[in-house]
Amino acid sequence: MSAEARRRAYLDALQIDVYTLKGADAELAPDPVPVGESSCQAEPAPDWESLRQSVAACSRCSLHQTRTQTVFGVGNPGADWMIVGEAPGQEEDRRGEPFVGRAGKLLDEMLLSLGLDRDSVFIANILKCRPPNNRDPAADEAASCRSYLEQQIDFVAPKIIIAVGRIAAQHLLNTDAPVGRMRGKRHVLEDRQLPVVVTYHPAYLLRSPTQKRKVWQDLLMARQVINESNP
Ligand code: URA
Repeated sequence: MSAEARRRAYLDALQIDVYTLKGADAELAPDPVPVGESSCQAEPAPDWESLRQSVAACSRCSLHQTRTQTVFGVGNPGADWMIVGEAPGQEEDRRGEPFVGRAGKLLDEMLLSLGLDRDSVFIANILKCRPPNNRDPAADEAASCRSYLEQQIDFVAPKIIIAVGRIAAQHLLNTDAPVGRMRGKRHVLEDRQLPVVVTYHPAYLLRSPTQKRKVWQDLLMARQVINESNP
């Protein structure tokens, strides 16, 4: 099967009509919006493996008491694309890998629609430990974990971050704007001038599959941003 046929098969799986970001659609991609400030506080780990070990041993917040294990992230530490979600759920806590449930399968399909997979991106979360009963991350938990994500971003040095869902977008960009207002725009992590594109969380898409088209628009915009950074 050709690459194009595979791409169309994945888009069919996502129930998304194939179209490209041209003409009027390109107007969905306005100028960068500088938002948010970083809050990195911890002493940096000297290398990726030390960072992984620091995360595994972390007891900065009370979530270490209830976790089965930390969920560091998965994928290519030299990836151009970094996907940031919210926090591990029950299955992720059990397996030590982000996005392994039904939402994870949909995330894989979203990546495959762009010709990407888990080995060609890096996937991480705002929190490295599961909040009990999958509640939203508390502010102090996110603040305690922030420097780990900051260091992951430093090591991976991606060309773009895709923030999936409200929690990831709000924490990354230090805003309380609703995700529907953040998606469809280009944002930047201000201290790094690193592009951030916000889109819906795959768990939301499982409940509202009609929103998949908007996610596809967001992913196309993200690809356009990457292409512009590699003229
Ligand atoms: N949802 C997330 O945001 N992250 C995961 O790792 C799993 C589900």
